[in-house]
Amino acid sequence: MGFFDLATNLIFPPKCANCGELISMEITNRQIDPLCPTCRMHYESEKQIECKACGLTMNFCRCMPKNMSRAQCTALLKLVSYRPQGEDMKIRDFIYSVKHSNNRVTFDFFAEQFKELLILEMRGASLLPDDCIITFLPRSHKNKANDGFDQGYELAKALSRKMGIELVRCFDRKFSTTEQKNLNQYERRLNMKSAYKLRDVEDKIKDKTVILVDDIVTTGASMASGARLLSSMGAFSVIGVCVGVTEKKNS
Ligand SMILES: [Zn+2]
Ligand SMILES: [Zn+2]
Repeated sequence: MGFFDLATNLIFPPKCANCGELISMEITNRQIDPLCPTCRMHYESEKQIECKACGLTMNFCRCMPKNMSRAQCTALLKLVSYRPQGEDMKIRDFIYSVKHSNNRVTFDFFAEQFKELLILEMRGASLLPDDCIITFLPRSHKNKANDGFDQGYELAKALSRKMGIELVRCFDRKFSTTEQKNLNQYERRLNMKSAYKLRDVEDKIKDKTVILVDDIVTTGASMASGARLLSSMGAFSVIGVCVGVTEKKNS
């Protein structure tokens, strides 16, 4: 990365993407980190929280919603568990910022974190970069227009660059759908069945392990829907990668 790239990537003055405190230039020169040292510490301890289902820490947990395993996903890699408002989570703002703040430093940070998990996963499955492609679930046109960017694309692009794995735009939105959050689980499933369509990329997908990137996974319906389409086009397997998984209430 050249000096000018670096300079344009930084927000001046650099502020912590979680608490908004100014980050001293000494730190930002040493390491491009979207978090101040205190929030970075909170982030690191979030990674050590244990999954209630498998007992492993978040960075080793591979659990996924049932609809994803039914759709032939092999794993869901995640950085943190995203807990609802009102519960103790010191970096909620930072995790949520991936949805509404178009910040290259944050996208690069998450991509670097994904890379650590993905390297382990690929090694375990004896996969090489050429065996894989990276893709993402595109936002609805309305959401993209509101925020001016597509976080799935930004995360996937950053990860592709870091891993040396080709980024392939596999999906289009069929039509703009009702906001997912207003739907119950049954309606979501019906809705997601028709939310995406595959582009003409069959030759790119066939026999590949597809790394499917999303921001925050709640029910897994979107990922499952994408995975089903990819499998129908001959994908060898699908690995989900996300920033956070929403913890179910009362679980
Ligand atoms: Zn901070
Ligand atoms: Zn788990």
